[in-house]
Amino acid sequence: MIAEGVKTYRNYIGGEWRDGSATERLEIRDPANGELVYYCTNSTVEDARAAIAAAKHAFEHTDWSENAVARAKALYKLADALRASLDWLAPLLTREGGKPLAISRAEIMRGADALEYYAGLARNLYGRSINLGPNEMAILLREPIGVVSIITPWNMALSLLTRSLAPALAAGNAVVIKPASLTPGATAEFIRMIDETPEIPKGIVNYVVGPGSTVGAELVKHPDVEMVAFTGDTSTGKEIMRMAADGLKKVSLELGGKSPSVIFPDADFGRAVRSALSGASLWHAGQVCVAGTRILVQESIHDRFIEEARKQAGSLRVGPGLDKSTQVGPVISEGQLNRVLQYVEVGKREAELVVGGHRLTDGELARGYFVAPTVFDRVPVDAKIAQEEIFGPVVSVLTFKDEEEAAEIANATVYGLAAAVYTTDINKAMRLAKKIKSGMVWINTFGRLYPNAEMGGYKQSGLGRSYGLEGLREFTELKHINIQIHDPGRATSRRGDE
Ligand code: NAP
Repeated sequence: MIAEGVKTYRNYIGGEWRDGSATERLEIRDPANGELVYYCTNSTVEDARAAIAAAKHAFEHTDWSENAVARAKALYKLADALRASLDWLAPLLTREGGKPLAISRAEIMRGADALEYYAGLARNLYGRSINLGPNEMAILLREPIGVVSIITPWNMALSLLTRSLAPALAAGNAVVIKPASLTPGATAEFIRMIDETPEIPKGIVNYVVGPGSTVGAELVKHPDVEMVAFTGDTSTGKEIMRMAADGLKKVSLELGGKSPSVIFPDADFGRAVRSALSGASLWHAGQVCVAGTRILVQESIHDRFIEEARKQAGSLRVGPGLDKSTQVGPVISEGQLNRVLQYVEVGKREAELVVGGHRLTDGELARGYFVAPTVFDRVPVDAKIAQEEIFGPVVSVLTFKDEEEAAEIANATVYGLAAAVYTTDINKAMRLAKKIKSGMVWINTFGRLYPNAEMGGYKQSGLGRSYGLEGLREFTELKHINIQIHDPGRATSRRGDE
């Protein structure tokens, strides 16, 4: 039965809103209380193919790939539209994903910032030229790739979309977006802003909602897709790389993490503890890729740290994201709740529980998927909870003797997305920053991201870089155009034909 007055989102293909061909529509419920938030159409591979065809047609039959002025204008307008949506879109992001409202607002502003940054770069996509010899020259041209699939996760649906979409469009590509099936609504609202941007030809941006295993896989395997920009779980990233290998497609992969925060005794203690706990992203119930969920403290400050962590984590206000006093929201789904609680049980066997360690069901909380912020102490380096990405509000505390051991432990996982070092000794900080194998190292802070500075993963945290100039180049091909200048007075080439 369909509830009356509840919104239904549809696919957007070739500039038209269309129902997907799957029979059952999706019901998106608020993870804080189980209430129905909206419906969304659901798709099959046929819809994915239609979206790819629309993107290919628009890429080949419009001037989008050659019209940098239009692309810049479009991205500036989208940034403005997104900012203007703040007051009504942030609550939707919170209702579909659970995060506190302030985080949803920050996410929208970050998305707008990325759009604006790449709007500026759209007209500055320079190649190079090389004077190869007396009568020969190379022009190295940056070109768009063609049809790009952008597949996004549910934890930061909008900022992770704009992080890929803005450079993909700035470079002149056509795209098909597949959002996570758990959170397609805020993305659909953003697609509406794209629909209302006249500089973007119809078909350049398409949006299809459907299961990753069918619709997502088609968006990777289809021969007309030239590149896949994926953000999500490491195991899904590996599967995507395997599927893309058949067509030798370009992939950009932003995957999971198990980031370390390393605290030395000479750090500003109060600041370091606050920053490291906030870096664990407890506010979004730990559901953030860069979350610093392994906190490494030098032995001499261990007891003091544990006392402070117990106090701070234990006093966080857990509740619905829409409630202004909430500091920690719910996890996204019942499946995620059970997964996190299983890890907590494993943690109780592997380590010492300091605080939390259970589901919260008092009063209204019983209707949602709330987990008490949890800290484990004396966690062995090879413990499951110290090695695997839990994506829940669970922090592991480990100790180290000296700088060398700190670096060893920091590097002792398959991940390498981010890290933080807290010390007032700049030499120590820089030595550690160089030793830690991760795409980002923060010093005396955590979680600062900028559209003009690259981020991405070492090891199994990903391939390629997002944000910055590198983030734009990911969405381009490089072509060498070689010119032999006819000059009757001089030899054509120093090296002859090759
Ligand atoms: P996920 O399960 O990998 O899903 C991500 C997206 O991939 C969803 O749209 C999903 O569709 C789709 N998908 C699933 N299987 C697929 C397949 N076989 N082929 C193509 N697409 C497929 O990840 P998630 O649970 O949504 O997100 C959490 C993960 O993302 C965490 O591991 C987190 O660390 C990572 N993450 C990384 C970054 C970063 O910047 N490195 C940022 C944010 C999140 P359905 O929704 O329909 O399943």
